Amino acid sequence: MTRLDFNQILLSESEERLVKIAYLGLGIMGRPMAANLVKAGHDVTVWNRTPKTVDGARLAATPGEAARDAEVIWMCVADTKAVETVLFGPGGVEPVLRPGVTVIDSSTIAPQATREFAAKVRAKGAEFVDAPVTGSKIGAENAQLLFIVGGPEKTVAALDPLFMALGKKVIRVGETGAGESAKIGMNLMIATIFQGFAEALALTGKLGVPPEILVDLINSSMIKSGVTDYKASFVLKQDWSPNFPLRLMLKDIHLMLDAAKQQKLELPSLQQIEKIYQKAVDAGHANDDYAVTVETVKQL
Ligand code: NAP
Repeated sequence: MTRLDFNQILLSESEERLVKIAYLGLGIMGRPMAANLVKAGHDVTVWNRTPKTVDGARLAATPGEAARDAEVIWMCVADTKAVETVLFGPGGVEPVLRPGVTVIDSSTIAPQATREFAAKVRAKGAEFVDAPVTGSKIGAENAQLLFIVGGPEKTVAALDPLFMALGKKVIRVGETGAGESAKIGMNLMIATIFQGFAEALALTGKLGVPPEILVDLINSSMIKSGVTDYKASFVLKQDWSPNFPLRLMLKDIHLMLDAAKQQKLELPSLQQIEKIYQKAVDAGHANDDYAVTVETVKQL
């Protein structure tokens, strides 16, 4: 059996081709993702706004330099503005885009902006796939991410070996932008589930229930969730070192509220949560993990 890879190269069913990849953005998520691509044997060049290195990868001075010979240009940066800068700003990748190149964006950004960026990338003959992730820092380090993908079916299918070098599963939601639309829905669930946990901790704490016992009860019941599984041990240790920084969850809450406004939809719980996250930012917690909001809730 044979198959075509994303660059239309004929491979046997079991064969994996080593790919020239530019990885742009070496934050909490990007750095371990780039490191896992190196570990999988790919030829990786990295760039970060504040220079950082990844063992086994070449370092470039600009996104454009990193992308010059790349077949795949993979981004994971903070927000919509950052993606726009990396793609189209000074020293960006746009001038080196050409047919045969695929741009993958694993940042969480606005679905509408994603469609606009993809159209500009396609105007240069390259392909674009939005592939935001869930799994946080530990998922990125352990190559256990879930990719939530939007883009042409054939392109997405051909990228499967690359996604599976960094993750445990790929779900193609639909066409360009659909990955980002689903991703903000997933983070809406994370924010509301965690808010329930924070409020339950605040109330039961006042009623004299030790937090360790509440966590044991949660984990022994139908209330157990991936969110509390990941976060409870950090909360019990009051360890607010960032796995998912609060500033980024607030950025995502704004993406959700903007999308809801465009759709003329009310999201009443999320509107309240936004105020709590803003309060936490005002108290100096922007760079802490969003789990620090268990403290903010106690002080309302
Ligand atoms: P992070 O640690 O804050 O890293 C952000 C990255 O973006 C850094 O490399 C930063 O460069 C770069 N950046 C910021 N503004 C930029 C600009 N204007 N131009 C160029 N580069 C810029 O964030 P992260 O946790 O890795 O998250 C990255 C993306 O993944 C975000 O969209 C986030 O929402 C999403 N995400 C995060 C998690 C998580 O649990 N952490 C999970 C799923 C999805 P500097 O180093 O120079 O600041």
